[in-house]
Amino acid sequence: MEYMEDTECFAQDDEPYSSDKVYCANCSNCKIVRTLEGNGTQYYLRVRCAAGKWLKKLGGEKFYKYFTVARRSLPFCDSYIPMGEPKEYIKELKNTLPIRDELYQ
Ligand code: SF4
Repeated sequence: MEYMEDTECFAQDDEPYSSDKVYCANCSNCKIVRTLEGNGTQYYLRVRCAAGKWLKKLGGEKFYKYFTVARRSLPFCDSYIPMGEPKEYIKELKNTLPIRDELYQ
């Protein structure tokens, strides 16, 4: 994951690790972004796919809450750019992610 500025969010159900899946958190197209709150001194963390793979049904880009990023997985992705061995990374990531959507300043 890399850091970028941007906004909005969506979420999906949790799933156990599977070696048959592609994990977005282990892809260099998975970017962490900030969504500003209030007067702009506070923000939430969101993730987006820089390859444009996360889309709303009615059009437009989907953003997900950062604390859910380890859940983002696909059976296959033609734009997946792995950043390392996923199993240990996803395991470690799940241990270090916040457990809820947190407001930062
Ligand atoms: S390019 Fe594919 S694997 Fe990478 S973040 Fe986007 S959807 Fe996930």
